[in-house]
This record gives sequence, structure tokens and C-alpha cells, in this order.
Amino acid sequence: MAVTLETDLSRVLGAKTAKAMAESLDLRTVRDLLRHYPRRYARRGEIARLDDLQVGDRVTVLAQVRKVTSRRMRNRPGTLTEVTVGDGAGQMQLVFFNRKFGKLEEGSWGLFAGTVGEYRNSKQFAHPDFHLITGDDDEDWARALIPIYPASKDVSSWVIQKSVKLLLDATGGFGFVEDPLPEDLRSRHGLLSLAAALLDVHRPTSAEDVERAQDRLKWDEALTLQLVLAARRRAAALEPGTARPRRSGGLLDAVDAALPFSLTEGQREVGEELAAELSRDQPMHRLLQGEVGSGKTVVALRAMAQVVDAGGQAALLAPTEVLAAQHARSISAMLGPLARAGELDGDPAGTRVVLLTGSLKAAPRRAARAAVADGSAGIVVGTHALLQQGVEFADLGLVVVDEQHRFGVEQRDALRAKGERPPHVLVMTATPIPRTVAMTVYGDLETSVLRQLPSGRGGVASSVVPVADKPTWLDRAWERLREEVAAGRQAYVVCPRIGDDETGDDETDAPDDADGAPGDAKGGDDRRPPLAVLDVARALDEGALAGLRLAVLHGRMTPEAKEATMRAFAAREVDVLVATTVVEVGVDVPNATVMVVMDADRFGVSQLHQLRGRVARGKHRGLCLLVTEARETTSTGQRLAAVAGTSDGFELARLDLETRREGDVLGAAQSGRRSGIRMLSLLEDEELIAAARTEATALLATDRGLADHPGLAMEVAALATDERAEYLEKA
Ligand code: ADP
Ligand code: MG
Repeated sequence: MAVTLETDLSRVLGAKTAKAMAESLDLRTVRDLLRHYPRRYARRGEIARLDDLQVGDRVTVLAQVRKVTSRRMRNRPGTLTEVTVGDGAGQMQLVFFNRKFGKLEEGSWGLFAGTVGEYRNSKQFAHPDFHLITGDDDEDWARALIPIYPASKDVSSWVIQKSVKLLLDATGGFGFVEDPLPEDLRSRHGLLSLAAALLDVHRPTSAEDVERAQDRLKWDEALTLQLVLAARRRAAALEPGTARPRRSGGLLDAVDAALPFSLTEGQREVGEELAAELSRDQPMHRLLQGEVGSGKTVVALRAMAQVVDAGGQAALLAPTEVLAAQHARSISAMLGPLARAGELDGDPAGTRVVLLTGSLKAAPRRAARAAVADGSAGIVVGTHALLQQGVEFADLGLVVVDEQHRFGVEQRDALRAKGERPPHVLVMTATPIPRTVAMTVYGDLETSVLRQLPSGRGGVASSVVPVADKPTWLDRAWERLREEVAAGRQAYVVCPRIGDDETGDDETDAPDDADGAPGDAKGGDDRRPPLAVLDVARALDEGALAGLRLAVLHGRMTPEAKEATMRAFAAREVDVLVATTVVEVGVDVPNATVMVVMDADRFGVSQLHQLRGRVARGKHRGLCLLVTEARETTSTGQRLAAVAGTSDGFELARLDLETRREGDVLGAAQSGRRSGIRMLSLLEDEELIAAARTEATALLATDRGLADHPGLAMEVAALATDERAEYLEKA
């Protein structure tokens, strides 16, 4: 039979099995089956490790039946069958109720899959699933490693195993599988051929086989992905943009003269990088990562000033109205008369800074839009929604996207369509992005990093307040807060929920609560509801913080009320701001030095790091207290301890990646069978991803592109058009 990767499985496996595979596992072609890799491998000797397993773990063991005994149950009707199985290294009990076991004979070998339970202090499986080894598959079962596949109720792991064997027999090996990877690339990286790797991953004889096969199969995934991204970068580089070269004697010089501090080394370097790129007639696509408080805003402002000097407009997009308003305020303050060109006291050499948000009243909104459309507003500050509202720019030269680490490819594309020619784009984030994520999710952007914090910062000390273990510490926390306020400082108290009794009570201004995956507020568990801003504020006002000036801030207040509250806080008319995560990003009140996070376990690692960045902004040392009911010894308690223990954002980003499932990082599609990413791990395969990125860039460096590599071109085309590419947009 002539089999190719596209051959329908029904021709190899027969209609019945093929139908079950298609329906329950979405496996339709030979390619689908071969790319359905084992999740792990069962081996003899595993029972010995059962002691390490937790009750509730699901495992599959390969073992031999030693003893079968059946008896009537005393307290209820029916029989109980106990089966002892062993694998040479250890043994365990299987328990079945009311089943006939003609086949379970002493001496036979089989695979037993079940959930580890405990009975009278010994581990057991209660009615496990099993498959006995029969004469037909002797050869298979004699193997050292038995593949365990992702399976379904209708198609078990052993059926898949058998199907692969059938395919192998029908085709005389996987010789028909053509290798998409260029020969020289394979030899450079010491990779198996695809046929050999598939054979080894499905039918390995040793752990080394598996490892080498996986190495090769990961390459397929990483390279295809990087080729898609490299193609995007290349296409973007060929787009015509408008050069916005630096000009002296303009806004940029005025900004530099007005800065109350000198730039850090990093700010200067990144500034030069941006200046050079803005001067080219290819649109810039750059991601600026910088620790919380590293001073990204001023870097962005200087880039915007350069563009204005060159006759263009710059838009700064923030994730929330609070933050947009704050940016508009601080930029206007910094520019002084230069921000009021055309007004009586304005400097005619300057420009206008306008704030354009959804909540503006009709008249000022019309005026703002007009200023954007006729070009008199050189700097436009708004929320991300600005782009969807059909705002017309006279000549949009630069878009800066602030604090948006989930600004996907699709949104970036929409943005580029804004001007006649695509504008330059700068995406800024304070959430440190592990290198692998930067290379995948943001693989089409160049990156710059600001590692250094401006000197003279007090930094922030964090500690966990475990109220279950140490109840008195909470009182001490409020005392500390009072001391700071007495010394003239201000404080935040952050809660996970608003608490105004509306349904779906979670704070909606939180950028994305997927961040909080472990211990997410709506985790569907039976814990008490998370603490709410309104309740906590009331309780503090009447109790621990009585006499202090408290205010609340959350996403369901009107924009005017939010703005007024932030202003009052910035003006020190409020001592303590009880808020949701609306204060998470960007909010800049250097006099605030204490943050108490209630129910800290309900927040994600990165979120907590962001939050405490709010109290590390001034010259005074900040204090962040993570209040939790989680016990210190639990994994949640340890996660919080890790956050308290380091201020290295990159280390925390890694921890975050570990605690969230990777699927959350890449978007939901990643966990699907069709994601194209099955084996590659963002945590473990950093080197491989980096190498694939280099290869991909090299492969696309010539005008011939992938013309000489039709196999690769096909894989790339499949990924680029497929729903598989979706996660690139969604992440
Ligand atoms: P982030 O990178 O988190 O957005 P910001 O841009 O809000 O940080 O800057 C944080 C604070 O640091 C602001 O008050 C800003 O004025 C100040 N800042 C920025 N650059 C410097 C510098 N080079 N020296 C001292 N302070 C600076
Ligand atoms: Mg910022």
C-alpha cells in the first residue's frame, strides 16, 4: 500500500478504529497519528516508586499478576476481588467490585492504569483500567518502555500503540516519511531524520532513544514557529514607513533640558537605539522591557518628542483611564508651556498634548478629536480603545503602547493600518518576559531591556503575613502602616474584589486575571469569597485605621470619580487608598511607601511584583506586606515567600511560568492538539528555541526564501494559515 502522511487513517486501520480516532481524538490522517506523541512511557520497576506517589495521582504501571482472590462482601451484596500485581521491584493491590475476571490469571502481564488510593496504610488502585498482554502483542510488551498516549474513553493508549504498529508493518517502517528539515541543518545540530525520530518516539528501546527523538521533534516545532515569526519580521521590514529623524532645537531638546534628573545609562542606550530606528524609513517594531520603576515613560516621551520634531504625531496608549490620565498629566507638567502651543501662555515652538478617553464629554471630545485630526495635537494620550474608535490622525508617526504585555500580533497589525504608511511602534512592559516567551509570543518584535533602576531609590522590602500561622502579625501590619502615615507617607491596601454586590464581582480593570491562575479568585473552589475593597475599607475605617483619611478606588467607579481620587491621593489629601488592581500598573505616587495586599494568594506572581512596584518609586524605602490565610508550608505559601524573597523580576517571571501552566502563556490553543506545539517547552527548551530562531532567520535571509525547502515551506504554510497560529494572536 502506498502510504503518505496525508493518507486517511481508515485505509490503514479500517473504518471502525479510524472513526473512533477521528471522533474522540481528532486524529484523521497518518500525519495526525504519527504526530500524536506518547505523553510518557511505562516501564518495569515502577511500582517501587509508588511510595513516592501521592494519593490521587493517576498512573499506569506495567506489572504481572501474582495473586487473585475473590470473596463476598460482608456489609453489602456482591463480590470483592483483590489482585496483587508485581513488577519485579515491588508489588501492589488492585481492588475490583463485582467484576468477573476470567482473564486475570496469575502469571499474565498487563498495563494497569488507575488512581492511587490508600487502604489500611497501603497504596492501592480501586478498579483500575487494564490491558492484558496476549500472544498477539508479545513482542510489543517485551519492550522496555511502553508508550502511554493521550487517550480517550473510546480510544485507549494501547489501541493507539497497536495502530502505530499496524502502520509500521503496513509500510515496512516509516521510510515513506519525508524529512522537511534541510540535511545540513540536521547534521549541524546532530538531529535524527524525521522517520527515525518518529520510530523512536513511538517504539523506543531506551530512554536515550526517547530523548534523541524528542530533541529532533522539538526542532520541527521550534523551527516552524520561528520561520513564521521571521517571515513576519521580514515582511514588516519591507513595509515602507516614514523616517522621523532627530532635529535639534525642538521639543526633544526642551524635554531634555526640563528633566529634573539625568538619564540612567540604560535609558540613554535605549534612547539611542530608538532614535536611530525612528530615523529610518522602515517602521520600528520594538518591545521595551523594563523593571517596574525603571523609567520607561521618559524614554517613550523622548521618542515621541523626536517624532513631533520631525513633523509627525505620537500616540501613547495606556491600559486604563487612570493611567492614561496620569500620563497626560505628567507629560503636560514636564513640557510646561511647550505642551500648550496655540494657547495664550503656550510656547509656539511646542505642541499640544491631548487626552482622549472614552469618558470625555461630547464637547471636549469633539475638540480633542479635531486637534488630533488637524495635527495641532502632537501628542495624543488615550486608552487602547483609542484605536478602535476610528480616531483620525493627521500624520501618525509613532504609537507607544504602555504596560501591555498581552498586546498580540493582531492588535499590532491593526495599529499599523492606522496611518497612510505604518507608524513606528514601541510596546512597553514592566512584566519581565522570560527569554523564551519573548522569542515566541513576541518573536516578531526586536527587544530592548532596561535593567537598571534610577539610583537613589529606596527599594522595597516585602514580607508575607501568614494570618493562619501568625494571627498577631496583621495587627502589627496596620501599626506599621500607621507609623508610615505618621511620618508623612501614604499607603495602598489592595483587595482582589470590589464588593458592591454585582454579579461577576471580580475587578474588571485587572489586565487579565489569567495571571492569577494558581489561586485565581474564581477558582471554582469552596474557599470563602475573596476580600472586597468596600468591605475592607469600611472595616479599616471603623477599626485598625480609624482616624486616617481613607479613599477607595476600583474599576466600576466613574472615570471622573477615579480621576478625582487619584488626584487627591497624589496631592496627599488621602492617606490610604483601598483599591483593586487598578493600581497595578504604572500608577506613580512616589510618596506612597506601604502596600498591604489582602488575600495575596489570590494574585499571580507577576501581578504581585507589579503591585509592589507602586511603593518603590521614591527615595524612601517601600514596604510591601502580603497578607494571606495560606499556610507557610503549602505551595501557595511558598510561592508568596518566593515573591517576598526576591525583587528580581526575571526570576519571578520564571517562577510565574512554572506555576502557570504553559498553555496559559501561549493561549488556550496551545493545549489543544492542533496547536503545533506539543513537545516544545517554554521552560526547558530555551537553547533550542534560540538556535531555531537563528536558523530561521538565516533560512529566510535570501530572496529565495524557502523555495529550496519545499517540505519546510509546507509546514510553515500549514502553521501560518491554520488555527494553530492563533495562539500567536491571543497570547
Ligand atoms: P516605569 O518604567 O515603571 O513606567 P516610570 O517611567 O513611571 O517607570 O518612572 C518611575 C519614576 O522614576 C518616575 O517618577 C520618574 O520620574 C522617575 N525617573 C525616571 N527616570 C529617572 C532617572 N533617570 N533618575 C531618577 N528618576 C527617574
Ligand atoms: Mg510605566
